[in-house]
Formats: sequence, structure tokens, C-alpha cells
Amino acid sequence: MEDERPARGDLWIEDRRIAAVTPADPAPDWRTEEVERRDVSSFWILPGFVQTHVHLCQTLFRGLGEGRELYRWLSEVIWPLEAALEPDTLRVSAEAGIYQLLASGTTAILDMGTTRHTSAIAEAVEARGLRAFLGPAIMDRGPAQALVRAGGEFRREVEELASVWEGHDDGRIRLALCPRFVPSVSDPLFRELAREPSFRSFPIHTHGSETRQEVEEVRSLTGTTPPAYLASLDGGRGRVKMAHGVWLSAEDRAALRECGGAVLHCPGSNLKLGSGLADLRALREAGVPVGLGADGAACNNRLDAWREMRLAGSIASTLHGPSTLSAFELLRLATLDGAKVLGLEDEIGSLKRSKRADLTLIDPTGDEAALGAEGMEGMERTEATGGTGATSGLAEEPPEALLVYAGSSRMVRETWVDGRVVFDRASARPERRELSARFLAARRRVLERAGFPVPG
Ligand SMILES: [Zn+2]
Repeated sequence: MEDERPARGDLWIEDRRIAAVTPADPAPDWRTEEVERRDVSSFWILPGFVQTHVHLCQTLFRGLGEGRELYRWLSEVIWPLEAALEPDTLRVSAEAGIYQLLASGTTAILDMGTTRHTSAIAEAVEARGLRAFLGPAIMDRGPAQALVRAGGEFRREVEELASVWEGHDDGRIRLALCPRFVPSVSDPLFRELAREPSFRSFPIHTHGSETRQEVEEVRSLTGTTPPAYLASLDGGRGRVKMAHGVWLSAEDRAALRECGGAVLHCPGSNLKLGSGLADLRALREAGVPVGLGADGAACNNRLDAWREMRLAGSIASTLHGPSTLSAFELLRLATLDGAKVLGLEDEIGSLKRSKRADLTLIDPTGDEAALGAEGMEGMERTEATGGTGATSGLAEEPPEALLVYAGSSRMVRETWVDGRVVFDRASARPERRELSARFLAARRRVLERAGFPVPG
């Protein structure tokens, strides 16, 4: 991810971090009896994917709100179901989501919870080894009365969560402030939370400019657009992480750049809910950092960075032509760019000495579409393909194009976070069965509590 060059070599890990990547770094002088060696020469190693917008609390709702645009999807399905979550069912939702994320090679996320029981999400993240920023969705106004709480309750909950979880496990778990979107948070509370000195290290994770209807609602509530409103927050500089950003003007993009805000691109969710096509090229040209995210399983319906990369590339091609974003740039969008959006570019996002050992072992034989990948000469290539990749692939298939456009999560054999194996496909079957049974029971319980029809 640093210089576009795949290399054949050894990756050395000490505790949680990468100690060396040969041949760029010299091999460490470790005594052999202290070193556990693994031959993974038939695999490729990638940095773990970073998904900058996820709702672990919605994993149980997959497939339950089909055929609705955003506002109906929220008001008729998602908000009633979120309100019916209890700590134990939320825990199952989070575990099921984390399992899917790790199995498809995602090692770090920025999550948005529901308005209660956020510690159940933190406990699932802790147990399953994912790296995450998390926090309760903040809603102190709007039609979802079963989710709405007073501002002071959110303030106290964030303080309590931070006292337990901020920086937990050597920084693996961090807090985020998650005002759901402008229509669900009153102006005084939004401003108070952004200004609060003890919350200043937390990113402000929100939704904005997702649909035209939402932009109009924000305009009628605040007199301005979502990006202009977020840019006006005292204390918000460098912290605004706005999911979607579909309906943006040039002024909106300039406002985001000037406040150091980032857009969290969710192509799968935007397409499926019919929200629109976010313009990645316009954001990049405006100097707005962009990360990638699957959003929630209730609107995607996968939590799969592979598919989001491919959709991001295909949307950019549709809007501006197929040379707009190279496969390499898409791979970087899903890794190093996401790390930058989270302020973690010195820690994760590429395979580099002293960074965290957050990575995946990719088996090129894992997906039939990648037939022939095991013998690809491209891995030996020593020259960079260049920014757009427009001239590459004439004589050889670039490995990044194979990954982004022919690859899939089926190629993920192992996922590592902080130097520990957190998913191993070889032993994943029994775990899947156990989780699947808990998923179905928890979903049933939530449907019952929400007063929805329960199958069977
Ligand atoms: Zn979302």
C-alpha cells in the first residue's frame, strides 16, 4: 500500500507489531529458538481492510427491511428493531457482524451503535479481537421516540464507556461520538458534545447528505446543508467523519475540506437503498479524505470490503470512465486511506515495520474466478504500475486487479489483528454453526419484542 509494489519476502512479527518486511528491511537478528516460523509462500499477505462505517447493532436485521428507501427503512423497520434490542441480543448482533467482518478480512472499523447498551458491543469487540472505534448513536429528538433519550444521558453514557473502554487492550478499542444525523440531534446537544474538552479525542461519526430528502430536512431545521452544519461545530475540526456524502455541492466539499472532515463512502448501501451515486473523484479532487464502509447488514446485506471496493470502482467508472480509479487505488481506499480517516495511518493500513500486525493471509486458489492466480508472475514485478493503472495489464494481469475485480472474501484464509489470529477458515465451521443458532434465536426475540411477525 505504500509504494504499489508487491514483493516476495518474509514478514516478521514481534508481539503486536511488524518487526520487519524483507527485502525492504534487514531480517532481524533473532535467535532461532525464539522464533516460530510459518511457511505461507503459497499465500499473499495484505494489510487488513479498514471499514470506516459499520452498524454492528443491525446485523440481526439483515433482509428484514427490503424494498424501502432510507426514511421508510429507518422508521418502519430499523428504529423499531433497534429499540427492541437488549444487551444479550445486541451482543449476538455484534458478534455475528464481527465474525463476518473478520472472515472477509476486515480488521478495523468505525462503528455506530444504537442508543442503548453500547457496552454489549464493546464486550463483543473485546472478545473477538477486532480493532474498533465505537459509541452509542445519539438521538435526542425526532420521530423515533423509543430510541430518543435526553442529552445528559448520552453524555453520562459516553463518559462511562470511555472510563472502561477508551484505549482498552493497548489502544485496540476506542470511543467515537456518534450523533446519528442532524435531524436526530438537537442543535444545543450537537454543539455541546463537539465542544466538550474530555471528548476531544473522539471522532465525530455521523451520517450526512445521504438522500435528497435528508438534505432538505436538514436545510429546514438548520438553514444549511449537512456538511456546512458539521463544519460549523466548535471543536469539530479534524474530527467529522460523515457517512455517505451522496448529495454534495462544490461548497459542501469545500466546507468538509476546510474543517478537516472526511467522507465515509458506502457504495453498496447507497445503491441498494437507491440513495444515489457518491462522487469519489470529486471528493478526492476537492481534497476531502475518503474511507470505505459496508454500512450495516440491514441495508447491504454483506459486511464485505471486497464488494465495496469493486462497487466503488464501478461507480467511479460509471460517472467518469474506467480510468478514474485504478484497482490499486481501490485497494488503498479499503486499507491505508481508511486508516488515515481514522487517524491510524502510523499504526495500520499497510505492511510496514513498526505498524500493528493487522493483516490477512490470502489464498489465491480460494475463489474459482481467480483461476491461474497461483502462478502469477505479477507478484515478482519490481516496477510500480503508476497512478491510474491505465497502461498496466496489457501484458500481465496486475495482482491488484485480480484481487479487486476477480477476488472475494473466499480467498481470506486467516485474519490477524495485533499479531494474533482472530479468524482461521480451517477451523471456522463449528463456530459458524454455533453463531448461526444464536443469531436465529436473537433475531426471533427482537422481532417478538418489536411486535413484528415472527417466522415459524
Ligand atoms: Zn449508516
